[in-house]
Amino acid sequence: MLLGAIADDFTGASDLANTLAKGGMATLQFSGQFSGIASNAPACEAGVVALKTRSAPVSEAVSQSLATVRWLLDQGCEQIIFKYCSTFDSTQDGNIGPVAEALLDLLQTDVAVVCPAFPATGRRVFMGHLFVGDRLLCESGMQHHPLTPMTDPDIRRWLGYQTRGAVGGIALDTVRAGSASLAAAFAAERQAGRRLVVTDAISDDDLVTIGLAVAGHRLVTGASGIAQGLPQNFRARGKLADAAETLPPVTGPGVVLCGSCSTNSQQQVARYATANPSLAVDPRALAGGEISPEGVSAWVAEQGDNTPIVFSTAAPDAVAEAQRRFGREAIAGHIESFFAALARSLADAGIRRIVVGGGETSGAVVEALGLASMRVGREIDPGVPMLVGERNGPLGLALKSGNFGGPDFFTKALQELERP
Ligand code: ADP
Repeated sequence: MLLGAIADDFTGASDLANTLAKGGMATLQFSGQFSGIASNAPACEAGVVALKTRSAPVSEAVSQSLATVRWLLDQGCEQIIFKYCSTFDSTQDGNIGPVAEALLDLLQTDVAVVCPAFPATGRRVFMGHLFVGDRLLCESGMQHHPLTPMTDPDIRRWLGYQTRGAVGGIALDTVRAGSASLAAAFAAERQAGRRLVVTDAISDDDLVTIGLAVAGHRLVTGASGIAQGLPQNFRARGKLADAAETLPPVTGPGVVLCGSCSTNSQQQVARYATANPSLAVDPRALAGGEISPEGVSAWVAEQGDNTPIVFSTAAPDAVAEAQRRFGREAIAGHIESFFAALARSLADAGIRRIVVGGGETSGAVVEALGLASMRVGREIDPGVPMLVGERNGPLGLALKSGNFGGPDFFTKALQELERP
């Protein structure tokens, strides 16, 4: 393993693994908490470990991140990526700063890039400020996020609230001057004692330039876009096999499970349900014990070749009502446990292709399936690769966060998984 990564949530890990696989690295995604990882990883060039640390208490996020990165170093990794969301999801007391500083200490290094840019999805950093499309982050809707409201678009200032040390910044002009000038700018920031350096990027070419400039850095932090320029550094040193990884097609019965309630997921569910069998999981019925994973699993089996969807996806007012009635954490926990048990029951009953909507939902499903690692294949839609794990034979998965995927994502993913 040459390049190791930790991601602070599950679908973020798939997104990063997708970028590295597209860059030509043989990539594995490791699932769940650190305790789920085997002591010796199967061979790969890039390993991405999905953590669930985005909204965890700081001390927990730091200790899990450090333990995982120690393990990645034991596997031989020369460079570590710390992947967070391209909307920099965190609070003023949040985890990105403390985790990044702890990793700098662990890796005994004095400088790391901070760049949440992901131009393909409209996230760009200019003069240290983060934009979503043509809006500043704090006017993009992210200011209303239930857990991590982003009320300040200045990433230097926001990160500064979280860190012990001063935060640096490098503007686009320096990035555009080329990788040598940029490398010198990082060195100057380090000299000045600014270890975390917010760096502008508004295009994929900027990210490639940054990738070249940080070739010798032990730590790289950012959204998945930051990984675009990194595989080339290993290729230039003759370290990559460049044996194009083709995953085996996975045939057999499939299912779609969606616990995401994002606007995008609502549209995808509605679209899929018009042409396929669908079963809506009502939180009240779940809380009242009227629906069981075994019962739903039997319903899925009855659908035969008509691949069904099971979803808890609901509009914001229905979600708010369920949260008021049962408590936000309690109902989320109920629904996640339901999908976890359902996925296990379906896999035991012979389902071979599982498409999941929702980051937390994906984490719950993969944990329940007990997949220690998954091979990363071609991209289905931006940021979402096909994955293949082993559970009594190959099991094909596609895991998408709420905001990802086109309107026909579920149909497309099921087809891609069985395409040679
Ligand atoms: P996304 O990627 O869109 O954020 P997640 O799966 O990460 O999706 O999060 C959705 C959360 O909402 C999960 O914790 C899920 O259990 C919860 N949830 C799903 N359906 C409902 C519902 N109908 N009412 C309340 N909460 C729900």
